Amino acid sequence: MGTIEGLIAALGEIAVETQPQKVRRRSRDFYWYSPILKRRLDHVTADLVITPANEAEVIASVRACHAHEVPLTVRGGGTGNYGQAMPLEGGAVLDLSEMNRVEEISLGRVRAQAGALISDIDGICQKHSGQELRLHPSTHKTGTIGGYIAGGSSGVGSITWGLLRDRGNILEARVITMEEEPRILELRGADIQKINHAYGTNGIITELAMPLAPAYRWCDLFLVFDDFMTSVRFADALSREDAILKKLVTPLAAPIGHDWLRPDLIAEGGHAVALMIADIAMDAFRDFLSRWPAEIVYERFAEDRLSSELPIFEYTWNHTTLHALRHDRTVTYLQTLFPAPDHVAKVEQMYRHFGDECPLHLEFVRFSGQIACFGLQVVRYTSDERLHAIIDHLNENGCPVFNPHACTLEEGGMKKVDPVQLEFKKEADPKGLLNPGKMIGWDNPDFDESGDRKFLYEEH
Ligand SMILES: Cc1cc2nc3c(=O)[nH]c(=O)nc-3n(C[C@H](O)[C@H](O)[C@H](O)COP(=O)(O)OP(=O)(O)OC[C@H]3O[C@@H](n4cnc5c(N)ncnc54)[C@H](O)[C@@H]3O)c2cc1C
Repeated sequence: MGTIEGLIAALGEIAVETQPQKVRRRSRDFYWYSPILKRRLDHVTADLVITPANEAEVIASVRACHAHEVPLTVRGGGTGNYGQAMPLEGGAVLDLSEMNRVEEISLGRVRAQAGALISDIDGICQKHSGQELRLHPSTHKTGTIGGYIAGGSSGVGSITWGLLRDRGNILEARVITMEEEPRILELRGADIQKINHAYGTNGIITELAMPLAPAYRWCDLFLVFDDFMTSVRFADALSREDAILKKLVTPLAAPIGHDWLRPDLIAEGGHAVALMIADIAMDAFRDFLSRWPAEIVYERFAEDRLSSELPIFEYTWNHTTLHALRHDRTVTYLQTLFPAPDHVAKVEQMYRHFGDECPLHLEFVRFSGQIACFGLQVVRYTSDERLHAIIDHLNENGCPVFNPHACTLEEGGMKKVDPVQLEFKKEADPKGLLNPGKMIGWDNPDFDESGDRKFLYEEH
């Protein structure tokens, strides 16, 4: 590694922070969700944070890091869950929060700088033309669009629009390479997959064009069921009602709703389902619901929400675990796919097998054109060995786990090297300076622990 002093001198007027506590704060993400990563990554910190004001400053920063051989890790909102944004080998964190402009909006499309907050993009698109992003993480307020595309996968809206990896869910990406003379690339079509969910290991995204959908008035609902599997069958049936516009279908087994989310609404033993339904679909939804043994315990549009209340999506996706952790620091979580077409049967099998050791939190989604569900189950952690035994049991029973207790792309994703992303890294980051340690394939291109399992980021 080159000298940090030399790098700072080369950065000239670009904003730099070296105060250790401030640098450390911006070297973290939500890695502490995992007791394993908490132990492994607690000491990790960068040497400095660079905050470019525009693309020219990004290019100058990259050129300087390349010349001084200093590793560089990009940071958006720092809400990643697996140490994705943590600089394992120190060096520089490139904080893109100042690059937050929405550049253009047209029918069905927005182009924004990568550091723009997702909620700001939605707010501006809503005001401009009654539109909003098709998908967003439950970190709507704090995540950036660049961080979502580089680190996220799915979220609120996935029940209608599928996952970020689905063709058409990311339109264009402007990317800066880590070379002696950095290049600016405009990626579109199949090339988007080079940088989608690559943790910023093979390029710095400075702008993105994303598809938009109509911004309906969304109704937040909590339902309560006496029986969990009935709530899962309800969620599956509702997910198949294509004409009932929805953004969220989230079953939450007891005790999640009562113990960790809304004890004021969800009685002890109640199995909750969180929903977002478009206002124009509410009559159809009520008709559908009348056939099911469920009670509506909460129903509100955003404008009626009390100032003390959260939007319902902040109880779902990775927020569910956050609420659980606030009450009980010993729990952790998993990310599992219950693949179609027998996802409901697989959910039942795992629900019966693990019981209260892994209270089930499901997110229904469109996956490869079919309805399926993810499990973001809460896990009552006892030891690393037991956690790995739980993961092994899920994998062996056809429910692949995207391991949130590892910080590499491969371990958290398809368990083998993604040749497209690796080839692009060879071209765009020949010295291996971008977010080092996150792509196993860089050091071991033959890594393959995939077996015959179906994973999230595989060719399709
Ligand atoms: C409470 C909670 C809820 C969440 N809910 C969801 C969810 O619903 N769906 C979901 O998919 N994820 C979810 N996540 C994970 C995370 O919030 C999302 O992935 C989020 O969008 C990340 O955005 P960020 O700006 O915070 O990214 P960061 O954490 O800053 O970065 C994420 C990764 O992307 C890289 N990166 C950031 N910006 C760039 C860039 N411009 N160019 C290249 N690389 C870059 C970083 O190096 C890092 O590897 C959640 C996390 C938490 C803690």
